Amino acid sequence: MSMRDGCAVFGVYSRNPSEHVANLTYFALFALQHRGQESSGIAVSDGEAIEVYKDMGLVSQVFNESILERLHGFIAVGHNRYSTTGRSNLENAQPLIVKTHLGPIALAHNGNLINYESLRKQLETEGLSFQTSSDSEVIAKCFAVARGETLEEKLRNTVTPLSGAYSVVFCTKDKLIGMRDPLGIRPLCIGKLSKNGRQGWVISSESCALHTVGAEFVRHVEPGEAVIADENGIQSVRLFESKKTASCIFEYIYFLRPDSLANGESVYEARFRMGRSLAKEAPVEADGVMAIPDSSIPAAIGYSFESKLPFFEGLIKNRYIARTFIQPEERLRRMGVRLKFHPLRENLEGKKVVVVDDSIVRGHTTKAIVGLLKEAGAKEVHLRITSPPIRHPCNLGIDMATYEELIANNKTVEEICQYLGASSLHYLGLEGLVGASLNSHATTGEGKFCTACLTGKYPIPSEKGSTKSC
Ligand code: SF4
Repeated sequence: MSMRDGCAVFGVYSRNPSEHVANLTYFALFALQHRGQESSGIAVSDGEAIEVYKDMGLVSQVFNESILERLHGFIAVGHNRYSTTGRSNLENAQPLIVKTHLGPIALAHNGNLINYESLRKQLETEGLSFQTSSDSEVIAKCFAVARGETLEEKLRNTVTPLSGAYSVVFCTKDKLIGMRDPLGIRPLCIGKLSKNGRQGWVISSESCALHTVGAEFVRHVEPGEAVIADENGIQSVRLFESKKTASCIFEYIYFLRPDSLANGESVYEARFRMGRSLAKEAPVEADGVMAIPDSSIPAAIGYSFESKLPFFEGLIKNRYIARTFIQPEERLRRMGVRLKFHPLRENLEGKKVVVVDDSIVRGHTTKAIVGLLKEAGAKEVHLRITSPPIRHPCNLGIDMATYEELIANNKTVEEICQYLGASSLHYLGLEGLVGASLNSHATTGEGKFCTACLTGKYPIPSEKGSTKSC
């Protein structure tokens, strides 16, 4: 898999003096590191002013005790960034601080505005200037100029012109606000600090971070909803009436941590079901089933459960490599894969193996992995992929590839299998994938997921030239 998500957002509101909101946010950003590894930042409000610290690098590289000690207050907003086409530099790191007539705000965004270019031009015509090249600043500026007597009205007027994916957490000097686009493309959930005398509210990209900070999962922010946490508790504001949703199906396949919930359901179980469906669709006579670690492990266990083939480890992953760097040259690319994965010869030699992976984008990494497994003695390598072929690029915040780069756009499944050097290749069908990703109460996947990169049916069409994202 060589696609990247575009950010993690987190916010906490607690008037309890024993809660150090910057420390809580630091731990949460650690738990959400998989969603972005280029820069990290925390902003804190003490009711008078907002202080921010951000820098390039992993959470552990950006913060230390003395930096966190300086960030005092009762509201914090945090962000991990992976830029897609927006420049990867400190200027674009978040949270962004923007002046508004309610005072400064600190804003963190996950998603991609489709109409970024035209909105920015329009705001510039109205006399606003921009400090960054990211679409997140457009959201912040829309809030800065939004009309309305009440905060609720201002929020509605902020999101009215926005088109695209946005899960946003921001704070004014005395309120924490979370909002999610009407299609609910990226995840966002609410947690509560209530055990052992704790008090406060948390808004997070993923529920795994709630566990880390000791908050209980309350619910997901609904598509088209905003939530406001302040001294009166938490309040919901309906921004849009959302009849149809388009949750990114790749959150289920790959981006979310398996111990997170996707729209209230276990991601681990969804992936397990994907593996079972794969085994039903494409059984194979083999000695065992292995995963390309880590995101494919639940699916490989599901395949093993359904097929009764033993699950085994065939690759050991070096977990200290933050990003697979995509090298233009074949030899260096292979070296990158060797750095990340080490084959277990003792488990592979002379074996016919089923290898479960989540997706194939360009095919380079998968080809190198098949090579590694064969080099370690695997007799047959049967690839089973938990997504249908990716034939279209993403316009909603995922750094994927262009039409020219996507292997499934240029080759048939048979040709891909041959190129990868695999013994067989099967992609999970769309129906199997959607069925596995549905929550237990749903009867149909119709109008629930974005599957645009698989089907070409975009929930929102692109605006030409608008590609800035976080
Ligand atoms: S196009 Fe693909 S990666 Fe992008 S939001 Fe839709 S499902 Fe997710």
